[in-house]
Amino acid sequence: QYRSGNEIRTLFLDFYAQREHQILPSASLVPEDPTVLLTIAGMLPFKPIFLGQRTSEFKRATTSQKCIRTNDIENVGRTKRHHTFFEMLGNFSFGDYFKEQAIAWGWEISTQVFGFSPQNLVVSVFEEDDEAYNIWRDKIGVSEARIKRMGADDNFWASGPTGPCGPCSEIYYDFHPERGEDNIDLEDDTRFIEFYNLVFMQYNRDAAGNLTPLQNKNIDTGMGLERMAQILQQVPNNYETDLIFPIIKTAAQIAGIDYHTSDEKIKVSLKVIGDHVRAVVHMIADEIRASNVGRGYVLRRLIRRVVRHGRLLGISGNFINQVAETAIALSESAYPNVRQREAAIKAELEREESNFLKTLDRGEKLLEDIIQQVKQQGQTQISGESAFTLYDTYGFPLELTQEIAEENNLTVDEAGFNTEMQKQVERAKAAHETIDLTVQGSLDKLAEHIHATEFLGYTQAATTAKVE
Ligand code: ATP
Ligand code: MG
Ligand code: MG
Ligand code: MG
Repeated sequence: QYRSGNEIRTLFLDFYAQREHQILPSASLVPEDPTVLLTIAGMLPFKPIFLGQRTSEFKRATTSQKCIRTNDIENVGRTKRHHTFFEMLGNFSFGDYFKEQAIAWGWEISTQVFGFSPQNLVVSVFEEDDEAYNIWRDKIGVSEARIKRMGADDNFWASGPTGPCGPCSEIYYDFHPERGEDNIDLEDDTRFIEFYNLVFMQYNRDAAGNLTPLQNKNIDTGMGLERMAQILQQVPNNYETDLIFPIIKTAAQIAGIDYHTSDEKIKVSLKVIGDHVRAVVHMIADEIRASNVGRGYVLRRLIRRVVRHGRLLGISGNFINQVAETAIALSESAYPNVRQREAAIKAELEREESNFLKTLDRGEKLLEDIIQQVKQQGQTQISGESAFTLYDTYGFPLELTQEIAEENNLTVDEAGFNTEMQKQVERAKAAHETIDLTVQGSLDKLAEHIHATEFLGYTQAATTAKVE
């Protein structure tokens, strides 16, 4: 049955509210937890409770949490199911109900509320978690062929290198049960999509990697709202759901193109815009400002990617606020703060977009000169050094240089570019390794070190983040 994104959110929250869960509002994308740069999961705001550092007024809670995962940035537009910004629906137990109840309700909401047929469901459990396996088989009645034991990579959950963790069990939707039960491969995304993760939080992991049992066992779950919408709206990917597609349509309209008849590359650009615009709207609504460090840099990077993909669609001037307006209109009923912060959002986006456009213009002029020179010299290739200067100083991703080169029947020395990139990394390393005996130098080092440590709390992808 078709369900809008807003309906799915409400159905989930109501189901758990009826089971004595307190509905709480989404926390900010800026976490209280200083070890994490952005809110990456529904459980993050509850981490102090799970760790026993804070007590909860409620034994059970349910939320729809705004999340940003920059580690999925390369997946955006390329897989059917990944976003940077998405909403995670969750039900939580703070030392109250545990594994058996969480599984029973997870199954009930999937089959009764969302109407999934058991034939379309597959579940995974952590390979050592016989308890979960037996509950699925004996209490719920899932056939053994549809219960998969998986390793720690997929089925042992942790919010980071340290913190609360435990085995988990996930529910997948099977789009093609007719393909049989013999070769169930949950990695096959033409057939399966993971939509609900039930974490049985039993441990805390310290910096040395030791697991200690938590005082109280907890339940933490996450269901992807956009993935549920994909399944229930019977569309080929998350991007074509009512939660995101209107943004894509706006961008396509500005570019004067049609999504459905566009080739794959254009679709990727439209999807990147659809995803990132939601992300930046919510980030600025949560008071993040563009900058060159930390979450400000994530914001800047996302805005620049929107601008660049707009250019790839042939959009030349400012356009980000038109798509941002669609994103605001889409989410204001669930998140009124995006409309309240509309002026700030639009001012920030406008400024960043204009600045980046200017830099891109300067880079384009430089590139024109380079192209002319190469042609005059009767050559066919742009050097790695030139491509690197464009990248490093003018924010020109290699792909963009390559594209413009191609339009001029030229190529780019990619290996040379990579060499320059490597040299830059070495230079940065060397700069860190020189010993500075002055007091100021040592202070700077210390500051650098503290900054680097902050960054390490974040995903690896982000520490090497570059505008691409
Ligand atoms: P995947 O394996 O598909 O990358 P995950 O195992 O990393 O997902 P979890 O950390 O288990 O995801 O998060 C809980 C739920 O949140 C997932 O089951 C999914 O429905 C949703 N989710 C996770 N990451 C994303 C994302 N990048 N975009 C959209 N939804 C997501
Ligand atoms: Mg993932
Ligand atoms: Mg997974
Ligand atoms: Mg998962």
